[in-house]
Amino acid sequence: MKLLVANWKMNKSYNDGLKTLQSVRKKIKNNKKKRYIILPPIQSTLYIKDKLDAKDVFFGSQDCSQYNNGAFTGDISAEMIKKIGCKYVLLGHSERRSLYFEDSKVLFEKIKRASEQKLKIIFCVGERLYDYKKNKSIQFIIKQLLDVFNEKTNFGNIILAYEPIWAIGTSITPKAQEIDSIHFKIKKTIKDKFNILNIPVLYGGSVKSSNSDEIFSLKHVDGGLIGGASLIASEFCKIYDTL
Ligand code: PEP
Repeated sequence: MKLLVANWKMNKSYNDGLKTLQSVRKKIKNNKKKRYIILPPIQSTLYIKDKLDAKDVFFGSQDCSQYNNGAFTGDISAEMIKKIGCKYVLLGHSERRSLYFEDSKVLFEKIKRASEQKLKIIFCVGERLYDYKKNKSIQFIIKQLLDVFNEKTNFGNIILAYEPIWAIGTSITPKAQEIDSIHFKIKKTIKDKFNILNIPVLYGGSVKSSNSDEIFSLKHVDGGLIGGASLIASEFCKIYDTL
């Protein structure tokens, strides 16, 4: 199944979010072959979900705590996310890694908590411009993968997202062939190390309706993770149409 994930980040209050999603739902439909998933700011999710009252729309959280419960001010647990009806959680986004100093140790714990709740995990990896320029993208990404996954990982719940850090919010993307090659190498790493065939890998980083067709037609790309362009209903729907 092809996936399109809308990462709204810290944008849209509950009412604005609901209006955006209502317009999206009027234009596009989920089906067995392709699915869109919305990641609103978590405090809006229950409201939007209840008001929308639609079983065909899937929700996720942009993060979860590495802890189960307790004195962790500002955190939200995987169990809480599950209880409000989210099916997905995004982990390892480069903004969380760089702005909140989330390292592999923390991410390993978050993956564990999310797996315990049977949430589907969209796990982001991606190199810095420095690594890309040195032709070291895949080495950087393999380390990110092997730091958090092992033989005990339940890969049935894992979706990967390749997001070159330098492509996020910049309107710059790698060349199509480079994207396909990295996706192929990510799939091959997971196959060689863990014997898991064809793990889904989404591409994220400056996807717009003007480039989504080319990116989604690549052999090893299973969908997209969309930031900025997911905030505008009509643009998000156009991207979905190219999936
Ligand atoms: C993101 O932050 O995950 C992302 C892909 O952002 P954008 O689409 O704005 O580059």
